[in-house]
Amino acid sequence: MKPVLFNFTDAQITEFVTELGQPKFRARQIRDWLNRGAPDFSVMKNLPESLRAQLNEIAQTLPVRVVKKLESSDRQTTKFLLELGDGEQIECVLMRTSYGNSVCVSSQAGCAMGCKFCASTLLGLKRNLTTNEIFAQILVAQWELRGDRESDRHIHPNGDANNGDVSHIVVMGTGEPLQNTENVIGFIERANSDMGIGWRKITVSTCGIVPGIKKLTEWGRPINLAISLHAPTDELRSRIMPINNKYPLSDVLHAAFEFSGLHNRQLMIEYILLAVRNENGEPELLNCTPEYAEKLSDLLRGKNCMVNLIPWNTVDERDFVSPSGNAVHRFQDILIKNGIHTRIRRERGNDIGSACGQLRLNNKKVNK
Ligand code: SAH
Repeated sequence: MKPVLFNFTDAQITEFVTELGQPKFRARQIRDWLNRGAPDFSVMKNLPESLRAQLNEIAQTLPVRVVKKLESSDRQTTKFLLELGDGEQIECVLMRTSYGNSVCVSSQAGCAMGCKFCASTLLGLKRNLTTNEIFAQILVAQWELRGDRESDRHIHPNGDANNGDVSHIVVMGTGEPLQNTENVIGFIERANSDMGIGWRKITVSTCGIVPGIKKLTEWGRPINLAISLHAPTDELRSRIMPINNKYPLSDVLHAAFEFSGLHNRQLMIEYILLAVRNENGEPELLNCTPEYAEKLSDLLRGKNCMVNLIPWNTVDERDFVSPSGNAVHRFQDILIKNGIHTRIRRERGNDIGSACGQLRLNNKKVNK
């Protein structure tokens, strides 16, 4: 494996270039390019061409390498399949919106949580990502946005608030961030200090690891927390999310509202809408019947939260189906009637790799 210069300290880069017989100031030039997300050395225009070629032979810039890049038909969403130094693959997604550019990053290669509806966990957990591997994902996105600017691409049709840099981060890609809490916190600290991304523009999504939520509370930064709830009773939640057997609903919500209450933030609740096929092959609502809408309302009434309803994205290996639009609206109407803030999540880039985790999985299938 070639050395990854992004992982080097400034002193180490200086040593590296002086050993190649280069003046010390090359180290600063290289660091500047690395911080902008340079995918290789060829793009480092202020280095001599011979040095660029030599560096490409013996070293790598970032700890992630883009192996596939897909763009949605409206050109607002770009999905990256990235390879790590040891060959593991992860996904990251750039979403250009009118309010800014949001990047969805992965925190682990694979996932150990075993949620029944999710693609990311099908092959189990491979390993935690390092702080640098998580950070490099936003650099990949930042580099892509630079390309947008250079090609004079229309970033967003009515994007007054979109200045063309990464402005928002969601830790919602592959993996469970609160099983890798230290590196995720390290990543967020860096995103805040090195890229100036405000705490309030960063969201961590968890399936409900209570000790991890408590760690975030101790850490004390006013980031946003999202809980993947998906069912309002322990009975149903344990069936679709095995982690609920360890950390039941009431404990998860207690810890989560404690965190969000600390900074007077709205807690985000994610709720996938799932249906299953009955013996006759007809779809039957699973967690989104009117009864469950009432139960969910009872759980959240009067609390400072926003429920994101997410119609299930098809995962070939999983047996669920997506409920009809009517069923989705009926579910939402009951929540609204009960005074619960709710919105239906607009799926971005559905035409490029379907559900979360599918890109990595499909690529594995092809490789086999
Ligand atoms: N492990 C973290 C973050 C990754 S999942 C968590 O559980 O929150 C990000 C979100 O996508 C979660 O809410 C997850 O439940 C949801 N998700 C997983 N598979 C999905 C699918 N097939 N369709 C729609 N949402 C899905």
